[in-house]
Amino acid sequence: MSVLAIRGLEAAVGDTQILHGIDLTVSSGEVQVVMGPNGAGKSTLSAVLMGKPGYRVLAGTVTLDGQDLLALPAWQRAQAGLHLVAQYPSEVPGVSLGHVMVEALTARGQSVDGLDELLGDEAARIGFRPELLHRSLNVDLSGGEKKRNETLQLAVLRPRIAVLDELDSGLDIDALRACARRVEDLTNEPGPHGEHLGALVITHYNRLLEALRPDRIHILVKGRIVASGGPELADQLERDGYAAFS
Ligand code: ADP
Ligand code: MG
Repeated sequence: MSVLAIRGLEAAVGDTQILHGIDLTVSSGEVQVVMGPNGAGKSTLSAVLMGKPGYRVLAGTVTLDGQDLLALPAWQRAQAGLHLVAQYPSEVPGVSLGHVMVEALTARGQSVDGLDELLGDEAARIGFRPELLHRSLNVDLSGGEKKRNETLQLAVLRPRIAVLDELDSGLDIDALRACARRVEDLTNEPGPHGEHLGALVITHYNRLLEALRPDRIHILVKGRIVASGGPELADQLERDGYAAFS
């Protein structure tokens, strides 16, 4: 079983401290959810976990199965088994999804046998138009197609732990259901390493949580987790809004 452990994480952008001590644990097969209002630090948390340039860690630790992730560059974090689904996926002109998957699987020492068939199967499973597999990555795709594309990568790469930042932003309800269902299924299916996916799901709205069943929900306000609880916390949030937690 894999465990992503975030302990006392404090981080800044420029001179401004955004994260003020975050403690979270995500294990294989779990869906841990971080919800919060705009500007709470949700995207900052995902950026710091992935090692995006421009973010400074001030204190705390992040480990994956005991390995210090903060000491590693982004590509080595990915090799260690951590994968980020970004809020705004990058467009990569001239490079197709198939190319990216071959590179990424090879870098991880995973087999590319049967990749074309797998890509086709996974595309069908989430309603991603197969002709888009050969287009430049994310170029001229709709918001929904981009997120389906990102979900497809997740299903092919099978990381140990995935961080999903606002998977629901820019998605219509059908795409949302398809992507959320696929992620939920990944948390219940053993991958090539024999483990179920562990997911850290970052979201503003609880509509994502209808198809993606959370084990635990954490409310992030102003860079601090101010409440943690079971799925009922999302219902309370729906009723009372974030104001009740700040
Ligand atoms: P969320 O994803 O919860 O909406 P963010 O993590 O994007 O919040 O932002 C948290 C705070 O950090 C906001 O006040 C935002 O303005 C600030 N911030 C985020 N990224 C940057 C950046 N690159 N430069 C300056 N300020 C930033
Ligand atoms: Mg954000």
